[in-house]
Amino acid sequence: MATKRDYYEILGVSRSASAEELKSAFRRLAKQYHPDVNKEPGAAEKFKEINEAYAVLSDEQKRAAYDRFGHAGVNGDGFGGAADFAGFGVEDIFETFFGGFGGMGRSGARRAPRRGQDLRYDLTISFEESIFGVEREIEITRNEVCDACRGSGAEPGTSPVRCSTCRGTGEVRQVRQTFLGSMVNVTTCPQCRGTGEVINTPCRTCNGRTQVRKTRRLTISVPPGVNTGTQIRLSGEGEPGFNGGPNGNLYVVITVTPHKYFRRRNDDLFLEVAVNVAQAALGAEVHIQTPYGPEKLKIPPGTQPGTIFQLRGKGAPRVQRSGKGDLFVILNVTTPHDLSREQKKLLEELRKSLNAEATPLERGLLDRLRDVLVE
Ligand SMILES: [Zn+2]
Ligand SMILES: [Zn+2]
Repeated sequence: MATKRDYYEILGVSRSASAEELKSAFRRLAKQYHPDVNKEPGAAEKFKEINEAYAVLSDEQKRAAYDRFGHAGVNGDGFGGAADFAGFGVEDIFETFFGGFGGMGRSGARRAPRRGQDLRYDLTISFEESIFGVEREIEITRNEVCDACRGSGAEPGTSPVRCSTCRGTGEVRQVRQTFLGSMVNVTTCPQCRGTGEVINTPCRTCNGRTQVRKTRRLTISVPPGVNTGTQIRLSGEGEPGFNGGPNGNLYVVITVTPHKYFRRRNDDLFLEVAVNVAQAALGAEVHIQTPYGPEKLKIPPGTQPGTIFQLRGKGAPRVQRSGKGDLFVILNVTTPHDLSREQKKLLEELRKSLNAEATPLERGLLDRLRDVLVE
């Protein structure tokens, strides 16, 4: 999917633009780029873009989601998707061009089932939690269907009545005489805003909104092996749907705090350990840390800095698959410093007996690290 332009930018308004400003910007641009008027290449695309931007920004909820999450919050680039623009068609354009009743949107669309918005929650966990998994309690604030009126918007004991303006159809038709002949202008009913019903006594709990803000505690089960960027989907824990549509989902997006020693790439882990020059020269058996406890590592005599030991199955668990990645232990050799007089003497002896030249290395540190670190 191509990168989408910012909706505010498309309409040429500031992020704080009022509903009025949005509407007038939209009308001006829609007239300018309407495919019946503007035959320039790209005008149709532009017209579509303008409509899409306005459909989102003119809807209070969608605008809020867009402000928080960008395009991902409103049309599902990776967040589940809500095919909300389907059905945004001719009627809307007519409504826009013939004035109508002010951009309330799709005729009748308010009665069609609509999926609720997806929500996002950012969760930061430790490296250990990412390896072993963890249960976390989180608190989210979301809209929920009003318990008092069960989402009808009418005060309990009362019910919505059929709209007298449109006789329950949600649409108002007007026939106009134009130079092209008579033209039927279908607009959303201004009385009921397309629902076909009006509520005379709004629910006092939700003020007729049908939804209320609620704060909920949820327990999240983070599986072993997650990494920064992993999304955990909690189906149906997003905002409620409309007109019987399903709830949106809640996406928990993981961030793992960096570990002091372990680095990670995919399911593999990397650890750098240092031995002293005598251990490297003569060989040694050392203990190294893995996420699963200490392991013995045999350093053969004459081991060079940058030598890599691969410990199979000691990396991160693979999410939704079996097994684990590998742990790569990169060996470094420390040069002794703060030497005692005795140690200096020993090294002096060694220096005299060793080759004193600096030698370029063909299969040195650079090559060995590259083999492992560069994909
Ligand atoms: Zn209510
Ligand atoms: Zn009506």
